[in-house]
Amino acid sequence: MHTPHYIDGRWVEGLGDDCISVFEPARGQPFAELRAASVAQVDQAVAAARLALPAWKNTCPSERASLLRGFAIQLDQRREALLAVQMQNNGKPRHEAEIDLDDAIATFHYYADLAEQLPGKNRDVPLAAVGFSARTRLEPVGVVGLIVPWNFPLVTSAWKLAPALAAGCTVVLKPSEVTPLIEQAYGQIADTLGLPPGVLNIINGMARTGAALSNHKGLDKLSFTGSNTVGSQVMRSAAEQCRPVTLELGGKSAILVFDDCDPDQAVEWIVAGICWNAGQMCSATSRLLVQDGIADTLLPRLQAALQKLRVGNPLAEEVDMGPLTSQAQWHKVCGYFASAREEGLQCLTGGQALDRDGWFVSPTLYADVPTDSRLWTEEIFGPVLCSHRFSTEQQAIALANDSAFGLVATVCSADLVRAERVADALEVGHVWINSVQAVFVETSWGGTKGSGIGRELGPWGLSAYQSVKHVTRCLG
Ligand code: NAD
Repeated sequence: MHTPHYIDGRWVEGLGDDCISVFEPARGQPFAELRAASVAQVDQAVAAARLALPAWKNTCPSERASLLRGFAIQLDQRREALLAVQMQNNGKPRHEAEIDLDDAIATFHYYADLAEQLPGKNRDVPLAAVGFSARTRLEPVGVVGLIVPWNFPLVTSAWKLAPALAAGCTVVLKPSEVTPLIEQAYGQIADTLGLPPGVLNIINGMARTGAALSNHKGLDKLSFTGSNTVGSQVMRSAAEQCRPVTLELGGKSAILVFDDCDPDQAVEWIVAGICWNAGQMCSATSRLLVQDGIADTLLPRLQAALQKLRVGNPLAEEVDMGPLTSQAQWHKVCGYFASAREEGLQCLTGGQALDRDGWFVSPTLYADVPTDSRLWTEEIFGPVLCSHRFSTEQQAIALANDSAFGLVATVCSADLVRAERVADALEVGHVWINSVQAVFVETSWGGTKGSGIGRELGPWGLSAYQSVKHVTRCLG
């Protein structure tokens, strides 16, 4: 049994009703248990964050920057332990767990830099009016609730924690009940660095713990990453309290492959875009739009590449793809395989669970999927790729944009002028040209349409935790 809650600078036992079993997806077996936080403990965490706010928001930004650098250094020092938890609990191959850890480290360094630049952002505002002067003051939003999912827990939490702390906010973080262990590192690091009690609180629990936090009247803002279903509940609760909310939700993103591509290079990008993290990426490019002239060359090579992937237990063997992270996700993906069979979709490879212990499925490719199929329109969150042919650039753009989501897209073409033109026409938050899933802390993250509200990363990620105040004086 773990002691999983970090409230007001102390580790405490959960007093909630829910008992959380933590699984190793490669074996389908539990390896840890913890008791969820009670509603009263959620109250305590929010109260601690409120109490810590006045002192924390008035710390010198350079002090906050040095603490954030401390987080980055400490994450690196815990590298082996953090990789092991991600491999065991998420089922991530080692090289992917390393990418996640390095991303989290880079995020803390980046927001340390931005924190140091904060004093220079409070500056005079030139006014056209005579007799007045004004200045801008960027202030922290206040106490923020951070709710995150299980697919990239270390990273998703870093993308929220680092800018929130840099801005001078105090936080209550709720990790996913599927992966509740990894974020405990943030509490341990806070202890090691001597972060003032209450600045960072971590509470674990299931949906009802999340709801207790997102409905809490003591928050000034909520930042949520997760499904559209829960995101809309979180938004409803924010609306009732007229409180700002950032939402990072689902996706059904397109990868557009034009005739002039090198087919082998395109196959590499396509496979990475759907099989990294076993396809459990909000940004998975799960709709392949392939131009008529290259389709017959590309699809057999893609089929062969997917069949060659080594799928297995990342703790036991060298693998390209691990299992799905939860049994619920495995059932969901298998449900889509059943739907595809009912719809009579043409399956070029995969389309089934692997016959072994653990929550494994085969990398899957369906060809010529109709655009009204639920496999084409709904987020599956697994290594399941649907392809569809197009003939003209205009058609490709229209097909890509015909989605309720708008998170990302990838454009593959040797004609860079065309690629840039297509990138500009796509209704998404982030486009990759001839690359795949490369996320840099300096660029933004977030989507249009059903993929959410607001942006993380870059200066926009910091602004999400800041409030703008102007002080205007009469020179009179
Ligand atoms: P989820 O919505 O089920 O859960 C997310 C978090 O919300 C968890 O911590 C959960 O305990 C909590 N929660 C559940 N019910 C709640 C409620 N009623 N009130 C408040 N909190 C509640 O999502 P998931 O299955 O963990 O994650 C997968 C989803 O996350 C996918 O849709 C994926 O696309 C999305 N996602 C988006 C991004 C992005 O940046 N856009 C990144 C990662 C994942």
